[in-house]
This record gives sequence, C-alpha cells and structure tokens, in this order.
Amino acid sequence: VDEGQFRAELMRWYARHGRHELPWRRTRDPYAVLVSEVMLQQTQVERVRPYYKRWLERWPSVGELAKASPAEVIREWAGLGYNRRALYLQRMAVAVMERYGGTLPLEVEELRTLPGIGPYTASAVACFAGERRVPVADTNIQRVLARAVLGRARARDCEPAALRAAAERLLPEEGARAHNLALMDLGAMVCASRAPQCDGCPVAGLCRWRLAGQPEGETSGQRTPKFEHTARFARGRIVDALRTADGLDASELAALLPDHHRDHVPRYLRSLEVDGLIEQDAEGRWRLPGQGRMSMASPKL
Ligand code: SF4
Repeated sequence: VDEGQFRAELMRWYARHGRHELPWRRTRDPYAVLVSEVMLQQTQVERVRPYYKRWLERWPSVGELAKASPAEVIREWAGLGYNRRALYLQRMAVAVMERYGGTLPLEVEELRTLPGIGPYTASAVACFAGERRVPVADTNIQRVLARAVLGRARARDCEPAALRAAAERLLPEEGARAHNLALMDLGAMVCASRAPQCDGCPVAGLCRWRLAGQPEGETSGQRTPKFEHTARFARGRIVDALRTADGLDASELAALLPDHHRDHVPRYLRSLEVDGLIEQDAEGRWRLPGQGRMSMASPKL
C-alpha cells in the first residue's frame, strides 16, 4: 500500500464524512475522553451519548468521581453492560487523585499503570486528548488495517504484531489524532464487518483485500454463542437485580435466571465479588458494595 496516497484519500473522505460532531471529539479534556472511551468499548455510539452527558454532569472531574461510592457508579451505569467498567473508572479517579493530584497523565506508559486502563484506552486518551503520535487500534481500525493493508478478511486472521506494524507504518508525522479518528470512522461507517461498502470507499483502489477478490478468512465460519447463554448475561442480570432490591440470597438470584445458568450461580457470585461489584452481608445476602449495613467486614456484636 502506498501510505502517502492512502492517507491523502482517507483524510479527504474524513473531512466530508467524519463524525466530527461527536461530543467527546469536541473536547481535549483527558477525563472526558477517557469516560467516553470506556463507555464506547462495548457499547454503540448512540447508546453512549446520553450516558456520557449524564455522567459528566454528575461527576464533571476526576476529583468529583473519586468521591462517589461504588454503588452510585454501578447504578449510574445501569443499562450500559459490563459493569466492571464503572468500578474501574471510579478506582482510576481515586488513583489519579493520589498519584497526580487529579490531573490525568497523557503518556501511554503512565496511563497504563492506572486501574482498568488497557493498551487500547491508554493510546486513545494519549492520542485524542493529548495529541500524542501513537497508533490507536479499536476493532474498527483493526478491521480496516487487516483488509486494506494486510489483505485479510478480519483482524483475527492476522498476527497482532503484523497489525501493529501496519498501524505504525500508516501513522503520519503530523496529525495522528485526525488520522486515527478517520480510520475509526471508515471502519464504523464504510468498512463494516459484514457488508463493507467498497463502492463508496475512499481507499478502494488501494485495498489489498478488495484487489485480491475479497477471500474468506480462516475464521469466517466461527459462530459466537447466543448472548443469553453467556456468563456475561447472567452476571449482568444479577447486578441489575441488586440495583433495585437491597439484599438477595443466592437462590432468589438464581430464580431470576434462565434454567441453564442456575448451577453456575455460585461461580458468578464469587467472580462478581472478586471484581468488587457485589458483596455479601453476615446473613449471606448479596448487595451492591459500600451500602451493606452488616457487611462481612463489620465486627460481630
Ligand atoms: S475497499 Fe472495501 S474492504 Fe477495502 S477498506 Fe474499503 S470498504 Fe474496506
């Protein structure tokens, strides 16, 4: 791939079609960018919008969020899924207050040391808030790189090192932020997972996968399990129930789940407890953390 031409075509398209109006793209506040990135990890843009707005109204800074209780952030997260993300944000805020006096760092290595911030999120905050010249590799960007640069149908058909090298090669000397956002938008809006719209794609003439006749990948036949059968579904149901009912025991929680989950309820409860999302009181009833009147930690009278 001719990197110069690829970047030029991409940026021309982005100027006209990019999602420039997204609220988290109109700020350089690293905390706001981080909140958006954590919310967007497993959730669609349109669904995230109202949550992002509400969250920043309620906790406009790292300092405010650090004072919130785990139960409050888990409640505010209701409906977004993957509740652990809410807790990690709150723990991150506490760590940033302690280590940096409330100002988020903007270097990838420092961001990586904070609770719940993985390689993707660290690079997104460094690039989108701090304008650092680093590759950002969300699933949309990885799919574009896999197809256009490496000639494969999916990112999971590629070696991670090959994807990283492709991202590095494409990165411009100046303007990495706009470049990464443009790749992200191309993946989300044109180079869709199931039905890429190659006819309207600005890099169609350079795309290796398209030029090779769009060969199927090795992983094309793999199916993902039905959501209702996953542990994630069950764990989410349990936390949802505890948002409203204060203190339920294992059998009451099991009754809220489809049959095939019932034998696994003790395992789900233990894993949620380890993640800090729920806790058990002295009578064995489960609730959200930080609101138990009789938590296990309190001394027996
Ligand atoms: S030509 Fe098609 S497959 Fe290649 S990057 Fe564009 S949309 Fe994706």
